[in-house]
Amino acid sequence: VLTRKPKNIAIETNPSHELNVVDTDVPEPGPDQCLIHVHFWKSGNIGDSVIKCNLGLGHESAGIVVKTGSNVSRLKVGDRVALECGIPCSKPTCDACRTGRYNACPEIIFYSSPPVHGTLRRYHVHPEAWLHPLPDSISYEEGALLEPLSVALAGIERSGLRLGDALVICGAGPIGLVSLLAAHAASAAPIVITDLDENRLAMAKSLVPRVRTVQIQRSEDAKASANRIKQALRQEAKLVIECTGVESSIHTGIYASRFGGSVFVIGVGKDFQQIPFMHASFREIDIRFLFRYRETYPKAIMLVSEGLIDLKPLVTHRFTLEQGKDAFEAASNPAAKAVKVQLLDD
Ligand code: NAD
Repeated sequence: VLTRKPKNIAIETNPSHELNVVDTDVPEPGPDQCLIHVHFWKSGNIGDSVIKCNLGLGHESAGIVVKTGSNVSRLKVGDRVALECGIPCSKPTCDACRTGRYNACPEIIFYSSPPVHGTLRRYHVHPEAWLHPLPDSISYEEGALLEPLSVALAGIERSGLRLGDALVICGAGPIGLVSLLAAHAASAAPIVITDLDENRLAMAKSLVPRVRTVQIQRSEDAKASANRIKQALRQEAKLVIECTGVESSIHTGIYASRFGGSVFVIGVGKDFQQIPFMHASFREIDIRFLFRYRETYPKAIMLVSEGLIDLKPLVTHRFTLEQGKDAFEAASNPAAKAVKVQLLDD
């Protein structure tokens, strides 16, 4: 398999946030690692991480095992896998790892977080323990989307969402949309989703026809937006899953909540943000957060393979690895109306 495509092309950024398609060496797997030919990656915005050197992008990937290290026992060449890209230390002396909260491991390596290169490269070595076998019914394309689905599942789990909960999802970007699919599968009802962009709301409606949509106006204050959301929901929200990280949207979520409700913030944003403190205090509104995920991949694989969640419609644009720059252009240009842009290498 390797000799068919001997070059290891990677997509990197640098401190000036330029994008380059570069040639790198094909790495050798260590004893506990597998060499993966990555077939699908999701491309997207570069984000705000401080980048001090050239950095390979990407952490939403699936591929095929092309070589195995000497200790690898569970996987073999030819196995199709999804890549979980946060690798904790797994030492028994690490509280987070020992107690199963491995997303909190202080020594975690997350591919694509500086200074560790991401998986947007043809060949990538990955620890066997963090590769999840894909059943035949799940394509590489869906395999790459198990990463954002993992974020959504962690959100559903940690937020305590229950059957029949009146739910608001703020933001219909990829994370909001995957959260919508997961909340629909978990039988939240009714569900309202918001966004500034009507195309994103149309996508939400096509994914889950029963969802009610509210287009947020930038000029409107948060209480007025919340009133429109409550009208659409025909009640106050038991739970708000916030998927923008934008301060005004978090305010809107707080104002849309019922007494004792909660605002579960998946979105990340400014370092310091104000909240309507007394409103939240007088109404016992819980505000909680999420940092990535743990133990979500097996569940995500089940939900997709059992047909409860269909990720395929989220992919709006496809490019080859060599067209990496065009893919990022499409992902960041609103006129392209992209949701998920994927790179493929057969
Ligand atoms: P995205 O930027 O593609 O989507 C955000 C959406 O929010 C866009 O469609 C935008 O139009 C909409 N939006 C912006 N302002 C709004 C407002 N005031 N009201 C309603 N909608 C508004 O991002 P994404 O990939 O969907 O990710 C969503 C957020 O989740 C990001 O902040 C991302 O960094 C964060 N995230 C967090 C975790 C975590 O572990 N907590 C993991 C992954 C992503």
